Amino acid sequence: MELDPRRLVVVTGAGGFIGGHLVAELKRRGHEQIRAVDIKPLGRWYQEHEGVENVSADLREKDACQAASADAAYVFNLAADMGGMGFIETHKADCMVSVLINTNMLIAARDHGVEHFLFGSSACVYNGERQTDPDVTALKESDAYPALPEDGYGWEKLFSERMCRHFMEDSGISVRVPRFHNVYGPHGTYDGGREKAPAAICRKVIQAQIDGSGVIEIWGDGHQTRSFTYIDDTIYGVLRLMEDEISEPINLGSSQLVSINELVDIVEGIAGVKLERRYDLSAPQGVRGRNSDNALIRELLGWEPSISLESGLERTYAWIHEQMTTGVHDEAAAIFN
Ligand code: NAD
Repeated sequence: MELDPRRLVVVTGAGGFIGGHLVAELKRRGHEQIRAVDIKPLGRWYQEHEGVENVSADLREKDACQAASADAAYVFNLAADMGGMGFIETHKADCMVSVLINTNMLIAARDHGVEHFLFGSSACVYNGERQTDPDVTALKESDAYPALPEDGYGWEKLFSERMCRHFMEDSGISVRVPRFHNVYGPHGTYDGGREKAPAAICRKVIQAQIDGSGVIEIWGDGHQTRSFTYIDDTIYGVLRLMEDEISEPINLGSSQLVSINELVDIVEGIAGVKLERRYDLSAPQGVRGRNSDNALIRELLGWEPSISLESGLERTYAWIHEQMTTGVHDEAAAIFN
């Protein structure tokens, strides 16, 4: 299926990181009707695109979801109250309340006859017992069951994944459920408490240079492992999944596994510095090791995320550096804080 550029596309969470980039790409591809929705007031979105219907609304509310979905052919539901480990480990109830967004958006999409609905799920749905060793076996889609997801945030994602499936079975709406793995890039959160590791490490390395401290604090012992996905791969994958009508939950993540220490090595290399590392063992760290098994996406799309961490971080570092040194500080992340 090709997305028809004349029909209305709705992107929720459009004032955030992934949603903002998706709207940009839809515009680049010539979409004429885009409705972008976010709870943040206009002016505080990471990216606000011209020629788009930009709406500030709280999608936990049923009426707001009904209005957001009216006349839409496609919905990309990327709104959630979320952040990195520092946020989700301390805001489990807030994360679970995002179930209101996903429930009301699915009901509204069904009521308005939306044809295709994408829900942004997460690698946090995977069973924690499979993620206790930094020397990981990559997670394949079936590893989400038996269920033991990340407390709060992961349970909400797993429940909403199933809700998508049952709406599809009961009402025929066609769904997509990408499981994102640690997405990073420009125009995302890098401070304020919701940032994820790549942006946080870039910020800390830049700050150490500004302060001249020569020191970086690392959460955990630095041996925990992850894969990180550059935003351009995520956006390409989201649109491919939409077009290829793949309705089962599927990993959309890089399989380039690194430890947090290796992540710091790369950022130090970009910055041309070497910092003294201090490890905070009491800080939130999440699971011990996680990687994305990409056999299914390779089989179904003949493609998988391939932008290297080194080149993605170079672009991310440059953007964060510009934000921090030119005073264009983006306050968007502070809306709930
Ligand atoms: P983000 O925080 O930058 O964007 C989410 C947006 O949703 C924010 O702008 C926020 O204001 C908005 N929002 C929150 N509550 C809302 C509400 N009640 N009504 C309307 N808008 C609301 O996060 P992101 O990285 O762009 O994530 C997008 C989606 O992808 C989320 O569902 C997230 O859980 C999922 N995800 C992201 C990652 C990642 O690494 N970035 C990983 C796994 C899953």
